[in-house]
Amino acid sequence: MAVAPPAYADVLARIARAVQAAGRPAGDVTLVAVSKVQPWEAIAPVLAAGQKVFGENRVQEAEARWTERRGEIELRLIGPLQTNKAADAVAFFDVIETLDRDKLARVLADQVQKQGLRLRSYIQVNTGEEPQKAGVLPADADAFIAACRKTYSLEPEGLMCIPPLDEPAGPHFALLAKIAERNGLAKLSMGMSDDFETAIAFGATSVRVGSAIFGARKQT
Ligand SMILES: *Cc1c(COP(=O)(O)O)cnc(C)c1O
Repeated sequence: MAVAPPAYADVLARIARAVQAAGRPAGDVTLVAVSKVQPWEAIAPVLAAGQKVFGENRVQEAEARWTERRGEIELRLIGPLQTNKAADAVAFFDVIETLDRDKLARVLADQVQKQGLRLRSYIQVNTGEEPQKAGVLPADADAFIAACRKTYSLEPEGLMCIPPLDEPAGPHFALLAKIAERNGLAKLSMGMSDDFETAIAFGATSVRVGSAIFGARKQT
């Protein structure tokens, strides 16, 4: 395996330290390397160093970047999903982290049936109740989780959130953990480049880190 690029090695070390500081077992947190928009020259060394889990925001962009290497990695969709892309998303991704409404749950359930696949999913919660942001509102989360299980047989693994940019993230991570716990969901996808150590302290089981590994994203 190739030597890890310094920024990637640094993120791995910071995750390990945060896990230890939280009194959690080593390896308790999965790093999802967010490769959206990044040039292949930035991604290739991280892949070569052994990173196995990647996150992408858009179905078509992910297909363009990963189709040839699809078998080597676990791929997670972390951006909003339109129902007209649901069939492609179910076929291409291992995990969809942005399940957030009935219509999408229905279409995903149909596709799981049609394609005869198992789908790993997370429900996105809009913890900051931001109008422009995707995610089920905290007050509606319990009912939506129940509907995903009973009506759609989707068996979500956990919850995902993106806290507001201009607020401390801790209370949002705590809220997500509380909703997960009372609904018996084991997984928490929370924490990005600026706050993944905080997220780990609040119980994140996976962190989604892009720019701290690959550098700032170029505007598209
Ligand atoms: C882009 C993105 C990330 C990664 O953000 P960084 O700040 O670059 O680490 C994580 N989660 C989601 C949902 C994203 O869209």
